[in-house]
Amino acid sequence: MRLILLGPPGSGKGTQAKLIVDRNNIPQLSTGDMLRDAVEAKSEVGIKTKSAMDSGKLVSDAIVISIVSDRIDMPDCANGFILDGFPRTLAQADALAVMLEGKGLKLDCVVELQVDDDALVDRISGRFTCEVCEEGYHDKYKLPKKAGECDRCGSEEFVRRADDNAKTLMTRLRAYYKKTAPLVGYYYAKKLHHGINGMGDIDGIAEDVQALLENV
Ligand code: AMP
Repeated sequence: MRLILLGPPGSGKGTQAKLIVDRNNIPQLSTGDMLRDAVEAKSEVGIKTKSAMDSGKLVSDAIVISIVSDRIDMPDCANGFILDGFPRTLAQADALAVMLEGKGLKLDCVVELQVDDDALVDRISGRFTCEVCEEGYHDKYKLPKKAGECDRCGSEEFVRRADDNAKTLMTRLRAYYKKTAPLVGYYYAKKLHHGINGMGDIDGIAEDVQALLENV
């Protein structure tokens, strides 16, 4: 199963991707995570992309296309993968089509998580993750069961993303509507697009996504 998770920042792509990983045994390829790792490691890619990422702008198509292509070649992607945060422009979508064809692979579906704008600001401003296992939490909607301790791994270290603030979110949302939203029509035309209501609770949305994946 090879799928794309599409949706604005805060729509729950990362959260749902992790649940799809657990249920379907395919890896999550998050370009945001890969780029944040590169920035942290101060690698060549990290140095080139840091300022765009800090300000919420998109990094160049060439850089992300290359890191995704390398990642798809890794053995854990043999049975499929979930693309989270890629493609984000029509040029990236075209490049992905060429890339997959070149590797003899085919895309099975594109799942769009549909969420109201007001909810996005609220979701993003309160989110944080465990520094060790990357389990996601939220100040309002999902606090650790035991205060200050990760439910999944017991760590007491949590982190907030530097770009999860109201000002940067506006730049990220603008980039989404201008450059990424056209992908809905692009994949609709290819008969790959499926919309999922992303406004409910996490488990309910996961059920809807799973039911969809079992039917494509
Ligand atoms: P995300 O974690 O998906 O919200 O991505 C965080 C940041 O990484 C974005 O605001 C962009 O600066 C950069 N980024 C992630 N994926 C892409 C992509 N496919 N194309 C361009 N920039 C990206």
